[in-house]
Order: sequence, then structure tokens, then C-alpha cells
Amino acid sequence: MFNAGLVVSVVIFISLFGSKGFRVINENQNIIVESALTDYASMPAGTKLTDGELKKLSIDDLFYSEEISDAVMDRMQGKSYKDNCTVPREDLRYIRVLYKNPAGDSCLGELVSNKAIAQDLVDIFKELYRADYLIGKISLVDNYNADDDLSMEDNNTSCFNFREVSGSKNLSKHAMGRAIDINPLYNPYIRTVNGKKICEPSNARDYVDRDKDFKYKIDKDDLCYQLFMKHGFEWGGDWNSSKDYQHFQKTQ
Ligand SMILES: [Zn+2]
Repeated sequence: MFNAGLVVSVVIFISLFGSKGFRVINENQNIIVESALTDYASMPAGTKLTDGELKKLSIDDLFYSEEISDAVMDRMQGKSYKDNCTVPREDLRYIRVLYKNPAGDSCLGELVSNKAIAQDLVDIFKELYRADYLIGKISLVDNYNADDDLSMEDNNTSCFNFREVSGSKNLSKHAMGRAIDINPLYNPYIRTVNGKKICEPSNARDYVDRDKDFKYKIDKDDLCYQLFMKHGFEWGGDWNSSKDYQHFQKTQ
């Protein structure tokens, strides 16, 4: 027999909070179940993902660009985003990628670029990852107090930094977020000053001779070079007055 009095009316609302998980709320707005899923978006660059995690995840979800959040801006302010920065925050994007580190682990990486090249970078890094291309590190230069020398010496791949070209007063294409340096320790910036060859970073002397064979070397046979060319970038290794083997830029 149907007895209305015995029927307990339960109204349940389920609210999703992004990739972070979900909440079940009853009619009195009390949270009755809360489940936090692993929040890969907030994990620091360099975090390694296990094979088990990678099997559960869609790789495409780990490659994306988004507007600069307050949290990312806090990290950049006064470092890569200096007080005199002429690039509006709205023109920059925060990019998350996966990369294979030298040990072959899948790691989370992060970049800041101009919005004009953000999708190029997402696509290129996805192809590099699928091809098991090895990259030392990919983290914001702010982790090195926006000191490009320290970032290069640590073989860190990075993009945006409001700074001048090394040895000049001209703004670098990095200042617009339109240039990226890949595996910089193994692909140094080489220029001649007063007849003397200077290499940056200074600990990259073993990699100045580009006829030698060594890991991470970017040349025209290299997948990284080929992908950046496909996406309309210019390579610093093609310059005449200096050679910047780590450097790709797209200014149009
Ligand atoms: Zn560069």
C-alpha cells in the first residue's frame, strides 16, 4: 500500500567543480558527499606521472592553454612580468604540456607565451611528447627569478620573459612571448664579441661544436626543428651574425 508519509523526499544536487571533483548537496545546501579528483592543473612543473595515471587520463586533457590566472600572475609579477612590461596580461597565455624527461618519465610542464603562438606550442609539444622527444625541463623562468642564465644553465625550456636581447638594449622576442628556447644547455647562443666567441649559457662549451654528435642537439634533421618550421617559426640556428640554436620565434 502506498503511504505518502513513508516516502522520504530527497532532493540531491550534484555540482561539478571543474576537473577537481564533484560535490553532492542536499535540499538544505549541506554537502553530503565531496570527492576530490586528482588536480593535475595545480601540480608543479616537473611532476612525474605514473604509467597507471597516464592510462586513466586522456593525454589531450594535459595539453592546453588558458588565460593568465591570478595565481600565475603572482608568480610572474616583478620577475618575468616586470613593472615596465608593455605586453598586456590579456595577450599572454599559460600553457600546460607533458614532456619526456631524460630518464624517459612523463612529466608535467608549463610555459607562458603570447596568445598568438599558444596553439602552435600546444600542438608542437604534443607531437614531441608522442615522439618521445627528450626535454630537460619545462617550467616558468620565474622559478629562476626570471634569470635567463640560470634557466639556460639548468637546461630549462622557457618562453616569455620581459627582457632585452643578451648583450643589447633591444627587447627580445621573448619579451613579447613570441620566442621559445628549447633544451638551452645543449643548444647554446653563440656570438662573437671583439673577435672572441661567447657562448650562453657559459656551461655549454662542450656543445658549441655543432659537427659533434650529442643528445638533445637541434639541427635540421631534428624533429623539434622540423615541427617549428611547419608552424611558421624562424630558427636562431639560421642566423648569420650569431647562432642561437635553442631559439625559435614567430613574429607575424
Ligand atoms: Zn631565445
